[in-house]
Amino acid sequence: MEPIWNVHKFGGTSVASAERYRKVADILTSQPREGQRLAAVVSAMSKVTDELIALAEGAVTRDESYPARFNALKHRHLDTIAELSLSETARLDLTAIIEGDCKDLSDILRGVWIAKSYSERVLDLISGYGEVWSAQLLCALLRSKGEDATWLDARQVLVVEPTGRTVAVDWEVSRVKIAAWLAKESASLVVVTGFVASTHDGVATTLKRNGSDYSASIFGALLKAAAITIWTDVDGVYSADPRLVPDAVLSQELSYQEASELAYFGAKVVHPSTMAPAIADGIPIWIKNTFRPEISGTRISRTTSSNQPVKGFATIENMALVNVEGTGMIGVPGVAFRLFGALREVDVSVVMISQASSEHSICFAVPEKQAELVKRTVEEAFFAEIHRGQVQSVSVAMSCCILAVVGAVVFWQWSARA
Ligand code: ADP
Ligand code: ASP
Ligand code: MG
Repeated sequence: MEPIWNVHKFGGTSVASAERYRKVADILTSQPREGQRLAAVVSAMSKVTDELIALAEGAVTRDESYPARFNALKHRHLDTIAELSLSETARLDLTAIIEGDCKDLSDILRGVWIAKSYSERVLDLISGYGEVWSAQLLCALLRSKGEDATWLDARQVLVVEPTGRTVAVDWEVSRVKIAAWLAKESASLVVVTGFVASTHDGVATTLKRNGSDYSASIFGALLKAAAITIWTDVDGVYSADPRLVPDAVLSQELSYQEASELAYFGAKVVHPSTMAPAIADGIPIWIKNTFRPEISGTRISRTTSSNQPVKGFATIENMALVNVEGTGMIGVPGVAFRLFGALREVDVSVVMISQASSEHSICFAVPEKQAELVKRTVEEAFFAEIHRGQVQSVSVAMSCCILAVVGAVVFWQWSARA
């Protein structure tokens, strides 16, 4: 019988130090294993992706301090390896790999320094090193504990096409590639790099910030896993961010839709795209705490037995509310089409829309930092109507926050930041 896959994902805080890698290894080795194979999708060590992006920024702006920061980042990894109590050979091998990658990375950053610019693909290549190192650290530790473990650089099998703000997975190609990889690899535990992927041309790319949760569910779907467990630093999904609301209540169960809405409206505990790949095959997603594995956590699946109408609150801060008002819009077809079409052209993602039934006004939310661009774009798109007095105003309210109340039904409310 074919073994059943279970996918586990460990976020940056779960792999922040040698001590934490050991905790992760303990969780993996204590999973039920009969007839099962495990995939462990890992993030970079805590803050490493931020630091890699800062190095690219440092190089492009010719900040003299970037080589020192680069050195600190390299040594953070080398020190962690030294603390993992690996065999001498394993330690030397891993150290040589990190040194080699750092030499390449230093050349890339030097190129950025000289060119005073970098492309998005170059930034993707730079920012993905953290996951590549993290996966190899965990794999070496698991092997040192006698595990039959190997690691997979997701860029070998996961093919995506970046589409602006997100990425489109090429499921067909990725399935063929992973099947070919698995045909040659029989290890019962595979450590997979989160976050990174390749384009169709074989160029390194990423699933965008916080994308390792998404990696986990993509691999869950590719491997037809029985379950996906996202290990993080809280006991599960709470009714609100427990860091902001200490009285928040832990949800035992959520539907895919509820979890997606909470994530979309800012619950950082799980990336909003995570649920989509799991939905087709009904794979349950568990959110659990690396530091308290005995707590059962939150189960996200198709249905929930909970009859609580409200599952949680989430907020998105730093938003602007734009209101386009005009008597000339009443009953005129295609106004919304033109408005949002114009915003699409300048790559603005509209978070929320409301239109008065009279069609007298359209109100929508955009990130505050795009508010000026939005106002200018709308005024240009409706230049003639403004000139003729059919659109009376395009007003922008800054410093807003979206508070989403998520449950079987989703409600939204606006609030101005204090
Ligand atoms: P990881 O490094 O494991 O990916 P993240 O920092 O991305 O972890 O996500 C975990 C954090 O999400 C928690 O520490 C918590 O502060 C935050 N969070 C925001 N909203 C919620 C929520 N509704 N429930 C649980 N955690 C939440
Ligand atoms: N390391 C990546 C980031 O910080 C991906 C992730 O951890 O989810 O964005
Ligand atoms: Mg995360």
